[in-house]
Amino acid sequence: KDSGTRENNVAKIKVVVRKRPLNKKEIARKEDDIVTVFDDSCLAVHEPKLKVDLTAYVEKHEFCFDAVLDEHVANDEVYRVTVEPIIPTIFQRTKATCFAYGQTGSGKTYTMKPLPLRAAEDLVRLLHQPVYRNQRFKLWLSFFEIYGGKLFDLLSDRKKLCMREDGRQQVCIVGLQEFEVSDVQIVKEYIERGNASRSTGSTGANEESSRSHAILQLVVKKHNEVKDKRNNDGNESKGGKVVGKISFIDLAGSERGADTTDNDRQTRIEGAEINKSLLALKECIRALDNDQIHIPFRGSKLTEVLRDSFVGNSRTVMISCISPNAGSCEHTLNTLRYADRVK
Ligand code: ADP
Ligand code: MG
Repeated sequence: KDSGTRENNVAKIKVVVRKRPLNKKEIARKEDDIVTVFDDSCLAVHEPKLKVDLTAYVEKHEFCFDAVLDEHVANDEVYRVTVEPIIPTIFQRTKATCFAYGQTGSGKTYTMKPLPLRAAEDLVRLLHQPVYRNQRFKLWLSFFEIYGGKLFDLLSDRKKLCMREDGRQQVCIVGLQEFEVSDVQIVKEYIERGNASRSTGSTGANEESSRSHAILQLVVKKHNEVKDKRNNDGNESKGGKVVGKISFIDLAGSERGADTTDNDRQTRIEGAEINKSLLALKECIRALDNDQIHIPFRGSKLTEVLRDSFVGNSRTVMISCISPNAGSCEHTLNTLRYADRVK
């Protein structure tokens, strides 16, 4: 079958960089765009520097990745490059993960928001294909947040959740609400509801959500009617056996991992937690890429939650979001170096 051969052509780990356009503020400040995308896989960052005698010069840094998307690339194309190729593999026992990494304001949420909706559209369409129609496959959605090392359900009033391991390398998030989604309009409503309940703190700004990881999961399950009736008392599994899944993760702002020397104690704690999780994530993806038996998922809450996506048939797409303005140069280089280590 076509989907079988396509699966073999999909790389296990794909690293994609997306550059956003300069925004109004940056244009008003007459900031330079220091990022040049020169083809669909390479880019250069022109770092403004000063010599000791204060003469200005530019240091050029070049990077290549599986794909580089410039500021003219729309979200539809992002979907085509990142998630679309993985969709058929979800029906073949794959656990896929799509991350957005980058500093606050680099476009992570803008990039991630439409992806689960498009994925659900494709998954629902496949569920109804003749090959799968008789298999009692259903699509389930859940959406939660990791904030300061704790889990909160974004679809049930930020209820605090805890995690349990069942000894068979399966993680279970106790109490996490899962909803069956048979049509795309419902998916859209859940995404909006979940995004609205992401942590915003007292300021209400982007500020607080930049300190949390948001995780939206779409799970394909195979249902056996007789068994399901018996199991249908709890809301943990709602019966059914997991066939495959895809997790969309809008990571905390990468610059937040550096908040470990802040004056505010809470900020320091959160910064340390974010730093730990982004380092652990990098280590897990690298281990996955090298086909290591031991995946260091215990390094953080984030990687523990994703444990079952780091073993067996897994696919990872990292979308590194970067800002083009000169003022973000250091963060942009940090993001690209992180992506470079992962690829
Ligand atoms: P982050 O989630 O990384 O903090 P956002 O996704 O909130 O960043 O993006 C910051 C701002 O930039 C938002 O106003 C968003 O609409 C805008 N933006 C981000 N990426 C793009 C893009 N590729 N094209 C147009 N606007 C963008
Ligand atoms: Mg965001």
